[in-house]
Amino acid sequence: MAARTPKDAAPPRVPRVGFVSLGCPKALVDSESILTQLRAEGYDIAPSYEGSDLVVVNTCGFIDAAVQESLDAIGEAMAANGKVIVTGCLGARGDVVREAHPRVLAVTGPHATPEVMAAVHAHLPKPHDPFTDLVPPQGIRLTPRHYAYLKISEGCNHRCTFCIIPSMRGDLVSRPVGEVMQEAEHLVRAGVKELLVISQDTSAYGVDVKYRTGFWGGKPLRTRMTELCEALGGLGAWVRLHYVYPYPHVDEVIALMAGGRILPYLDVPFQHASARILKLMKRPAAGEKTLERIRAWRRECPELAIRSTFIVGFPGETEAEFEELLGFLREARLDRVGCFTYSPVEGAKANGLPGAVPEEVKQERLARFMAVQAGVSRERLAEKVGREIDVLVDDVEGRIALARSSSDAPEIDGIVRVKGAKGARAGEFLRVRVTASGDHDLEAVAA
Ligand code: SF4
Repeated sequence: MAARTPKDAAPPRVPRVGFVSLGCPKALVDSESILTQLRAEGYDIAPSYEGSDLVVVNTCGFIDAAVQESLDAIGEAMAANGKVIVTGCLGARGDVVREAHPRVLAVTGPHATPEVMAAVHAHLPKPHDPFTDLVPPQGIRLTPRHYAYLKISEGCNHRCTFCIIPSMRGDLVSRPVGEVMQEAEHLVRAGVKELLVISQDTSAYGVDVKYRTGFWGGKPLRTRMTELCEALGGLGAWVRLHYVYPYPHVDEVIALMAGGRILPYLDVPFQHASARILKLMKRPAAGEKTLERIRAWRRECPELAIRSTFIVGFPGETEAEFEELLGFLREARLDRVGCFTYSPVEGAKANGLPGAVPEEVKQERLARFMAVQAGVSRERLAEKVGREIDVLVDDVEGRIALARSSSDAPEIDGIVRVKGAKGARAGEFLRVRVTASGDHDLEAVAA
């Protein structure tokens, strides 16, 4: 038999990595960074455990349910594949992972692309011919083509007593403003219509580098939330801010919203309304006069939609303090609200506070909270009936377009169901007239 020459030998098989991404948008951005690097180095991303040479599991460790979900996902990958690298928030607690799954190949914390890649290289060598030109400049994204998360910093300088994120992700580290802008520009060029700015504390952007002046497009640009928003607003996409704390300089971005530069949408995790509970929680900006601030923001920008999250049943929360929270909800008339019962995450300082609230009381408070907010949300949405608004189409089902307005962030807020949107496509903006409203969603027709 004639010997096979290198020319007619089969091409080397491309190593394949499976990927499981759990957790919040910050974890999702970490996943995107790892996937981008894997593709840049020539690895294939496999859609199944069986077809993978190894599996990376990006975990979440925020509450006990998330820890369990992460441990289950690791177990599933171990059973189906056997070669597993663990990263993400739960990875910061390596002992928990190794105790449950001692045979995982490696464990890293969150925001650790270089460490994950080092582990991948150790167990699945890099292909010789990296197809770097196959990776688009905007990297690999897990979100639909028309919106993308833009992470501007990592870590947090606060020490809220219910949260263990700083112990997992460390203190605030702001990304260089030029790098953030370049990524945003690549995304918009690639077809992204909406940029969702995320971090642990968006309003603290640049504090760690003393608001250093960076450069973008050959011009100086300060590493600061207002200046970043102003620049992002010039790219021609919707810009939506998440995780903003009500520090005084937030007023500056309200002016940008009123001027149409960025979306009139503010995601402010208030967590509670009682001054004593906020102090026990050690919340940033706990001393701010929140209701006054909200009224002033709305005076300046009547279109403003405010989203927030709250915790009920925090240790020591009395019935009177909970009632104060309900009173705040009625007064503040927030547009979008999420609520959790207090979950004693292992390692959180608040677990040591006296006055743990019994589970049934927590559940009862959650139900009362949600009932009040459903009423507020219904009223707020009903005010929009008859108005014309702009929406961004996420999906089309027959003649109905499922879209979002400036008040709706993807995944967490409501939707606008547009009838008669024949020919509409995902990623398109439509002008619509609102015809009906419910507890969370709107109905509309093309205007
Ligand atoms: S601000 Fe508080 S809740 Fe948010 S990440 Fe920092 S410590 Fe955790």
